[in-house]
Amino acid sequence: MQFTKLRLTGFKSFVDPTDLHIAHGLTGVVGPNGCGKSNLLEALRWVMGENRPTAMRGGGMEDVIFAGAATRPARNFAEVSIHIDNTDRLAPAGFNDSDHLEIVRRITRDVGSAYKAGGKDVRARDVQMLFADASTGAHSPALVRQGQISELINAKPKARRRILEEAAGISGLYQRRHEAELK
Ligand code: ATP
Ligand code: MG
Repeated sequence: MQFTKLRLTGFKSFVDPTDLHIAHGLTGVVGPNGCGKSNLLEALRWVMGENRPTAMRGGGMEDVIFAGAATRPARNFAEVSIHIDNTDRLAPAGFNDSDHLEIVRRITRDVGSAYKAGGKDVRARDVQMLFADASTGAHSPALVRQGQISELINAKPKARRRILEEAAGISGLYQRRHEAELK
């Protein structure tokens, strides 16, 4: 499974549709302070199902929607889509029947979030599980936020264990067990 393209529309500072092509290997994002580098990483987390406003540096989930600027009015929705090359068929069952997969999340003011996978409506949980099983989820250690390294060093043992579990690809199992226990 390889991410090939990230598209942002009305997401934070990316008011106009913006495509980020992701090549094989390491991708670096450089630019001056405030140009939107962290917003790009947040878009990636968000489309994978991140639901903690604090992880998105906002007070509420709708804060990801373009809030307007001196010359541009605010938007009513934000949308992020991620394109995945699945020719290796590593996407989990239910998603692994095609070479190419597109996941879309859209949030509309006063309505909330909706997700699509391959053009079909899916639940947030389906998307979160897809990425948790693929060990690339919204909480994945593959995405390192500013300040996160020092958080890791200072983390309590239990929190540090969660990070290792995510890296080992077993956090999807924990989520399912937690849901089973609630039933
Ligand atoms: P640094 O190098 O300082 O870490 P950065 O490139 O990571 O900067 P970001 O934090 O991604 O920059 O972008 C910050 C910019 O995004 C700010 O100008 C902020 O006003 C803008 N921004 C954040 N949320 C929104 C929003 N909802 N609507 C419009 N602009 C937003
Ligand atoms: Mg930043």
